[in-house]
Amino acid sequence: MDPSMLIGAAVLAVLFALEGAIPFYRGRSGRYAHAARNLSLAVASGAVGAAMAPLIVLSTQWAAERGFGLCQALALHPVVCAVTAFVLFDAWMYAWHRANHEIPLLWRFHRVHHTDPAMDSTTALRFHPGEIMLSTLLNCVVLAALGAGIAVLAVYKSVMIVIIQFHHSNVRVPAALDHRLRLLIVPPSMHRVHHSHLRAETDSNYGTIFSFWDRLFGSYRTRRRYDDIRFGIGAYDSVDWQNPLRLLSLPFRALSETRP
Ligand SMILES: [Zn+2]
Ligand SMILES: [Zn+2]
Repeated sequence: MDPSMLIGAAVLAVLFALEGAIPFYRGRSGRYAHAARNLSLAVASGAVGAAMAPLIVLSTQWAAERGFGLCQALALHPVVCAVTAFVLFDAWMYAWHRANHEIPLLWRFHRVHHTDPAMDSTTALRFHPGEIMLSTLLNCVVLAALGAGIAVLAVYKSVMIVIIQFHHSNVRVPAALDHRLRLLIVPPSMHRVHHSHLRAETDSNYGTIFSFWDRLFGSYRTRRRYDDIRFGIGAYDSVDWQNPLRLLSLPFRALSETRP
């Protein structure tokens, strides 16, 4: 089994318990039903990701056999190569996430992630299988271009699953700690802004692990208060639309959204 799945399951269990004990947004009901809906989508997306995993292996092998990619071109020491590839892969994730917001075809799939009106740690797993399919195909190209081995991706995915579940979580993190964390990584407050129903806020804070890409590329956004954020996109986030089967059909629905 993919080690990131085991790490993800353990972290999810801890965060889910903490969300019950020390929630940032209080008074939420139906947490288990909400989790079940998001995890249904995670199973569908996970199946697509697992089915496509051999492509990732093939692309990294292809690059290694031909001496193709950045690490080989610069003859980087394996440790330097691994660190460089880790950081650059996160830059790619930033670019991919931003493209998902700026290109209408990609937004059709990515908005499934944003139609959750009660963001918590399980929202980190709520993705349309179509988005996973597209990102996996492009990841093959990026990994080959970096010339990094598959081990770098395994480490990246393991770190990523911890960070993204943490920053989607509804755990009350002390403001001072959240503030310190955001110097390096994306903390919950930063990603809560990204899930706001206000368009200008949704189209900001695209970072996955590191927070500095948003500062560097001008998409970093904060807020005076974080406890009054309304999640969703103002369309397709009603109770009716939370059914996983309906969410699977969302990319094929009209794009018309009237967002403030
Ligand atoms: Zn997004
Ligand atoms: Zn998110």
